[in-house]
Amino acid sequence: MRIDIEQDMMAINNAYAADNRQLFHNSGTFAINIMGSPGAGKTTLLERTLHLLQNQLKVAVIEGDLATAKDAKRIASCGVAVVQINTDGGCHLDAKMISRVLPGFYVDSLDMLIIENVGNLVCPASFDLGEDLRIVVMSVTEGGDKPTKYPMSFMSADVVVLNKMDILEASGMDIEETKNDLITINPQVKIFETCCRQGEVQGVDRLAEYLIAVSQAKKKRQ
Ligand code: MG
Ligand code: ZN
Repeated sequence: MRIDIEQDMMAINNAYAADNRQLFHNSGTFAINIMGSPGAGKTTLLERTLHLLQNQLKVAVIEGDLATAKDAKRIASCGVAVVQINTDGGCHLDAKMISRVLPGFYVDSLDMLIIENVGNLVCPASFDLGEDLRIVVMSVTEGGDKPTKYPMSFMSADVVVLNKMDILEASGMDIEETKNDLITINPQVKIFETCCRQGEVQGVDRLAEYLIAVSQAKKKRQ
């Protein structure tokens, strides 16, 4: 039966995710899973954020993509260790894919591991990777109804970044309504507003400060 197969697949994923989480815990590494539609600006936001994090933390990145190493090359040029996972058309990362590439990092020496998931608002949300924090990046050009149309992604997010704020007016999105929708489906969510355009970067400093604070809070708990 199809449902049984799906349950098995999820049980296997959850077992790998638990192992990943234990490894991150033992090594004091704060793991972040970044999700969002294609074109939301995940990689550009990551580039901007890395510049701010690198002064204070030892960070590495896993880049998930259907094909090509374009994003991984961009991240490598920021000067951080990066491993590319090509899913060969697969529409999400799973915990086993992450566990397979972890030996390629000196995880013990890392403060933070950031995973950029495949661009997709649907199934990545169902796959726990063992992360400590989930970020959904949504650009204002996607339309303000996305949180209510794709509630699973937004419900499971710890942080939602509303990106491309520089073109908010042209996008026609009612940002207050979208923020209200977000808080209705996920009352605990932290919302950040960013612009990542070269020369006009805004809001990324507050996101970076938040990520540094929550990663340090995890270390203190250990
Ligand atoms: Mg990308
Ligand atoms: Zn998928």
